[in-house]
Amino acid sequence: RSNAEKFEFQAEVSRLMDILINSLYSNKDIFLRELISNASDALDKIRFLSLTDKEVLGEGDDAKLEIQIKLDKEKKILSIRDRGVGMTKEDLIKNLGTIAKSGTSAFVEKMQTGGDLNLIGQFGVGFYSVYLVADYVEVISKHNDDKQYVWESKADGAFAISEDTYNEPLGRGTEIRLHLREEAGEYLEESKLKELVKKYSEFINFPIYLWATKEVDVEVPADEDDSSDDEEKQSTDGEEKEDEDTDKEEDEDKPKTKTVKETTYEWERLNDVKAIWLRSPKEVTEEEYTKFYHSLAKDFGDEKPMAWSHFNAEGDVEFKAVLFVPPKAPADLYESYYNTNKSNLKLYVRRVFISDEFDELLPKYLSFLLGLVDSDTLPLNVSREMLQQHGSLKTIKKKLIRKALDMIRKLAEEDPDEIHDKEKKEVEESKENDEKRGQYAKFWNEFGKSIKLGIIEDAANRNRLAKLLRFETTTSDGKLTSLDQYISRMKSGQKDIFYITGSSKEQLEKSPFLERLKKKNLEVIFFTDPVDEYLMQYLMDYEDKKFQNVSKEGLKLGKDSKDKELKESFKELTKWWKEALVSDNVDDVKISNRLADTPCVVVTSKYGWSANMERIMQSQTL
Ligand code: ADP
Ligand code: MG
Repeated sequence: RSNAEKFEFQAEVSRLMDILINSLYSNKDIFLRELISNASDALDKIRFLSLTDKEVLGEGDDAKLEIQIKLDKEKKILSIRDRGVGMTKEDLIKNLGTIAKSGTSAFVEKMQTGGDLNLIGQFGVGFYSVYLVADYVEVISKHNDDKQYVWESKADGAFAISEDTYNEPLGRGTEIRLHLREEAGEYLEESKLKELVKKYSEFINFPIYLWATKEVDVEVPADEDDSSDDEEKQSTDGEEKEDEDTDKEEDEDKPKTKTVKETTYEWERLNDVKAIWLRSPKEVTEEEYTKFYHSLAKDFGDEKPMAWSHFNAEGDVEFKAVLFVPPKAPADLYESYYNTNKSNLKLYVRRVFISDEFDELLPKYLSFLLGLVDSDTLPLNVSREMLQQHGSLKTIKKKLIRKALDMIRKLAEEDPDEIHDKEKKEVEESKENDEKRGQYAKFWNEFGKSIKLGIIEDAANRNRLAKLLRFETTTSDGKLTSLDQYISRMKSGQKDIFYITGSSKEQLEKSPFLERLKKKNLEVIFFTDPVDEYLMQYLMDYEDKKFQNVSKEGLKLGKDSKDKELKESFKELTKWWKEALVSDNVDDVKISNRLADTPCVVVTSKYGWSANMERIMQSQTL
């Protein structure tokens, strides 16, 4: 095209495209899901803009927020069109080629080490999956602020942009035309497309139409076999047919017309847009929740979410929400914890998608949850900034936290491995629960650190979170146990909950601090994660029991009759030790009953850092 401007793809994007073009990946279907997801995002954007400015939608067909799929079998073109926000010339240049997103190189790297192409959407480069099935792609787009442009590329390292003076005007939105490769012919089959939309795009909240063939019965004059009069072909609407029926009755023995099959085209709706969260939780199946999770996570594997909670909050602040615990923690969950505040909750206001970057909905420590909130109380026609300040957000957040913690508590309650209570033996034996066996340990393994961070950060829910805490102890035999279970095993007269911190269980088991407690059969919690030291600065007590670090001053193991006697007889020795040692590093020297075999130990003062904390702090400053 004479008016085309040429651009080179950014290097990483170019590499990505090479990988896709040469991919032997068998599941090429995913391109359709990516295109529909982009169309849906673009529709969400224009709908959001229309909240504060109705004009942006335009009139007539332009105002219809929908997605249309069309096939051209002869030219081997598949096109997907939306009436979304569209792209300006600059958007086309930036979004489709010259600016690499952070996910681009991460995805290229993944692909080179045998990663799953199916996850392309998670890396923000889903668009390029069109090159799995097409060797030439045109993107025609019209944004309200610009003219209509065509972006085109044969994935040969470059793309071209030209003002569109030859295609039909789009009004607003984007049409992606895929010139399919020889071997991708299956995507010209209507049945294939219907199957894919059903499989991948069930939760798209805009209608998806296919320009589909339809067999219709047409009445033609009985004596003219080859009649294919255009007018008659279209007379398919109900009323006219009825008229013909009555005609027939009047003239029964001598029919003037007969019925023949004709093929026409019409827009066939492929999805049902009743949003899952608006349905009653009782009516939604486990399979539907799983699929919904996959669509939110952009992860189309076959792993089920660990848990979900779907509820309807009523009262002053009304909203519906679905929360999921993913099957696995993302690799960078805690790496980015301190620098980002990324929430994975989508916010809707009265069915309208507002944002998926709304941090105010969940505290940081619950950022591993995925889900969605649809509020009836928040105002629709205000800016995102104003929404962020809205008073009812606090209430929503509070309720979401409660529900999330309930959901996690239930995971533990339903896990037979977690039930140590003999009365609940029957539950343990029921078959249904077998599936749930070990699920809490799995949760703990993936997200336990988040619970600990919660205890540190969320004073209001500290006790609820402490209930979810799991750890090993000197007597738990390598199994995880909880504070409630610890308390149920406490010896009579034992007032405090004992714990010890260190870098590993193996190291701690040899600690002289445990000698006496072991002899007395007192259970001691092992805290071996660096975060545990911080945790224990916030977790002072639980159910009226104080926590006592056994390596710190103040350990009381019950009075011993010999205590006084011993103190007396070693008075001179302690005095000598004191004089010899007390300096900046040693505060005091005391007779203690905490040891059994080891003659002496260094103990940290009540308010100082434990030796383990010193170790952690040192390793951090290095
Ligand atoms: P992502 O959707 O994760 O951002 P993609 O590679 O799928 O990544 O799309 C890249 C960008 O191209 C989008 O962020 C969007 O700005 C733009 N885009 C793609 N398809 C459309 C569309 N149908 N309408 C408007 N913009 C689009
Ligand atoms: Mg996308």
